[in-house]
Amino acid sequence: MTDEKYDILKRYFGYDTFREGQEQVIDELLSGRDVLGVMPTGAGKSLCYQIPALIFSGITLVISPLISLMKDQVRALNEAGVHAAYLNSSLTQGQYYKALSLAVEGRYPIIYVAPERLLTDSFLSFAVNADIAMVAVDEAHCVSQWGQDFRPSYLKITEFIEKLPKRPVVAAFTATATKEVRGDIQNILMLKTPYVVTTGFDRSNLFFQVESPKDKYAEVKNYIEQHPDESGIIYCLTRKLVEEVCGKLIRDGFRATRYHAGLSDEERRINQDDFIYDRSPIMVATNAFGMGIDKPDVRYVIHYNMPKNMESYYQEAGRAGRDGESSKCILLYSGQDVITNRFFIENNQDNEELDDATQELVMQRDEERLRQMTFYCFTHDCLRSYILRYFGEYGAAYCGNCSNCLTEFEEKDVTEEAKAIAECINSSHQRYGVNVILDTLHGANTAKIRQYHMEENPSYGKLSKVPAYRLRQIFNELLVQDYLRLSDDGYTIVKFGPRIGELLAQDSTIQMKLPKEQEKKPKEKLSRKRKAPVSGLTEEDQPLFQKLRELRTEIARREKIP
Ligand code: ADP
Ligand code: MG
Ligand code: ZN
Repeated sequence: MTDEKYDILKRYFGYDTFREGQEQVIDELLSGRDVLGVMPTGAGKSLCYQIPALIFSGITLVISPLISLMKDQVRALNEAGVHAAYLNSSLTQGQYYKALSLAVEGRYPIIYVAPERLLTDSFLSFAVNADIAMVAVDEAHCVSQWGQDFRPSYLKITEFIEKLPKRPVVAAFTATATKEVRGDIQNILMLKTPYVVTTGFDRSNLFFQVESPKDKYAEVKNYIEQHPDESGIIYCLTRKLVEEVCGKLIRDGFRATRYHAGLSDEERRINQDDFIYDRSPIMVATNAFGMGIDKPDVRYVIHYNMPKNMESYYQEAGRAGRDGESSKCILLYSGQDVITNRFFIENNQDNEELDDATQELVMQRDEERLRQMTFYCFTHDCLRSYILRYFGEYGAAYCGNCSNCLTEFEEKDVTEEAKAIAECINSSHQRYGVNVILDTLHGANTAKIRQYHMEENPSYGKLSKVPAYRLRQIFNELLVQDYLRLSDDGYTIVKFGPRIGELLAQDSTIQMKLPKEQEKKPKEKLSRKRKAPVSGLTEEDQPLFQKLRELRTEIARREKIP
């Protein structure tokens, strides 16, 4: 028995050794015990159920949320010589019944099935008459409303299992490690004293970096020029941006291709293959790209925009360096990204089938996640430890392999600046956004400053000696520390946060860890002469509603968010 799993590992999958966690999971499943496997993307969760599936005498059903994922896995299994099939809405009725009848004959030890199929008459009558040894639930976080991709159809799994004459072993796998989601999976899927395995989320070969460049495209171009022979993915938040960035790269002579949900199946397949086989080593894509794609030598993942939460970020960034070689994960942040994400949260059509109360909860949850994601961009602590702490793991305070660990920081007394910021927010009645507040303090002369008569505000020019980037750093840190909050009503107004009292207390002092000031700041000098607006740090200078209008137009063109 013990050797059999090694035989299968070698024979069908071509590997000699198991990775962390795999062998224990396989042994537990073979002994008949339920399993909850929490392992990061790329850890090798599929083998954990595929190998037992080939050892059990009965059939294994694998429940998976995505058609493309099922197809890829079944294709890979078939190529490895394993009889496997999938049953989902991509099959014609004829194909479906053909596959089902072969399943009835016992042709397939592994059948991938869409959750929506489980309770249909045809599938159910097959299942109750078959010998189902195991139900493996892939991407099991889909059962949880607290998970990031809740699928109501995943709730049917339990009902399905209860209809089977003999309860199969149930194995659930996910890359989402938060406690709430883990608890939901155990409870909703009714796992019986499961063996829970959590393998490390740390990917030590990945270098994490956060930047907020004025010109994102120039930054990307520069990076690619310096890494000409490497394969990488550039994630953008919208289809429009994918088109734009990919177009520019091609015009600038790079072999780039694109992927988003607005392209035909055919084109997506071609572009994906071009990327995988290095005909186009650079992939520009929305988050529609990546699930189930296994390209081991992706050397960098650049996020052109900040994604909506840390789960998405880590999953996408984690597509770099699957071969274990050192790789870079670079996030290009701008304030606009927060606005775009907030718009997506407020207009998330995935939530439409939920009742109002649940919708409200889901929105609050997503807002909170967005905040945590934003803080990742602001933090001056080790980025890796921030990620690991987010996923409930202990991370060392210093990893030496992220942009923050490589930046020199100093402990600074910023009491004066912090109090001036608070005073400015107060004297303008907590009515304005970040740029107006910082521009006022900096004494900038922008259209908005004039429009709101901020040059008459007592705080005007109060911090004119503090460099713009410094002011922004201090402001961001005040957000992270909860002294301030941004309103989440779509206008990102600066408000007082829960800890504002501590800041306003007369004898309070505020210390912050800030990047050591550089000797030479030529750009800064230039802008100081002109009293450049602090908002120069974000991309746009146009009114918010105009941006929102553009976004709406784009959304209207899309049936679904990517
Ligand atoms: P996950 O579902 O956890 O994201 P996958 O199951 O898709 O990960 O596996 C990711 C990659 O790791 C695949 O290419 C797979 O073949 C490979 N892999 C899995 N187990 C092993 C192993 N024991 N040795 C080497 N490669 C493995
Ligand atoms: Mg997987
Ligand atoms: Zn670090």
